[in-house]
Amino acid sequence: MSDVQLRVFDTTLRDGEQSPGFSLHPDEKLQMARQLERLGVDVIEAGFAVSSPAEAQAIRQIATEIRRPVIASLARAQSTDIQRAAWAIKPAARGRIHTFIATSDLHLATKLRIDRETCMAAAVEAVRCARRYTDDVQFSAEDATRTDADFLCRVVEAVIDAGAATVNLPDTVGYATPEEIREMFASVIDRVPNCDQAILSAHCHDDLGLAVANTLAAMSAGVGQVECTVNGIGERAGNAALEEVVMALKVRGDRLPYRTQIDTTQIHPSSTLLSQLTGQSVQLNKAVVGRNAFAHEAGIHQDGLLKDRRTYEIMRAEDVGAASPPLVLGKHSGRRAVQQRCAELGLAVEGANLEAVYAALMTVADQQKRVTDRDVYAAVAARTR
Ligand code: MN
Repeated sequence: MSDVQLRVFDTTLRDGEQSPGFSLHPDEKLQMARQLERLGVDVIEAGFAVSSPAEAQAIRQIATEIRRPVIASLARAQSTDIQRAAWAIKPAARGRIHTFIATSDLHLATKLRIDRETCMAAAVEAVRCARRYTDDVQFSAEDATRTDADFLCRVVEAVIDAGAATVNLPDTVGYATPEEIREMFASVIDRVPNCDQAILSAHCHDDLGLAVANTLAAMSAGVGQVECTVNGIGERAGNAALEEVVMALKVRGDRLPYRTQIDTTQIHPSSTLLSQLTGQSVQLNKAVVGRNAFAHEAGIHQDGLLKDRRTYEIMRAEDVGAASPPLVLGKHSGRRAVQQRCAELGLAVEGANLEAVYAALMTVADQQKRVTDRDVYAAVAARTR
């Protein structure tokens, strides 16, 4: 059985950028969009055109310059939003309008103050309206995971009928479990008769730390598109991290038979550029892109790695375009690592000398947490003086 080809819809510049602390100037958005093209995403959601004139202009600039990926703009299910999105994506080689309306009873009753039938009519009208500007229309049923299952199926059927080529069912508030996500998509695929005429999409948030697990669960149910962001940025706790989803597929192809067009060696450059542009670094222990993601300090681990990297590494730093970090020396390091670091610095240390240098460096480590190359030079010099 051949692998399923998945589309990667990147929303770093929309869901990611709209979260506190992550806003970007139009020229910075363009710079990030260029990197997303190199990364190989299929769709760049470049922004929410109606939110400001500068935002609409930034999307239009990206649509003018970035030619390979589809360029999308978000739009609420109302004609002013859709017209603005249409203007912003007009220069694109392939432009998409992504329109949405909430479908859960909670959102309908408290936020929109409309009933289900009014919601359904607005969704259909929005898709029809967007189709006047482009064949590539995506519809999202906001808060899908808290929406009544029967109503959700009716909405999906109606928007596909109206011409939506992609239907996204987001876990807007990061509330669902993997099992629920799988059941929601399986039920839609099973019950919506025209479902094969559109691509289903998953958009998961990380409020409970389940965004990536939920995204993988959606794949197993049969979605054709996954929505994610670089470094997992996004509203509140963020979206499914692109780098985690993509590397899970690459490392665990034996269990996850899905492929993407992502060039994984562009993952680290994308993460670094985003951090530079936003001024927000990722946590040290962040999966795949954190500074410690490929670092080892414990003696047993360092000894294993020096014998065979596979003992403690399931992927290599080079696979994601990062430099392999040097061995970190600290109080958990062993003699093997000390000897290796000395060798990397051009210092041959053996036998009793190694024992003495090791003891000296462990004393340093107890005092200052981290052993630097300068400490290594000093310890070796003291012994061989
Ligand atoms: Mn979102």
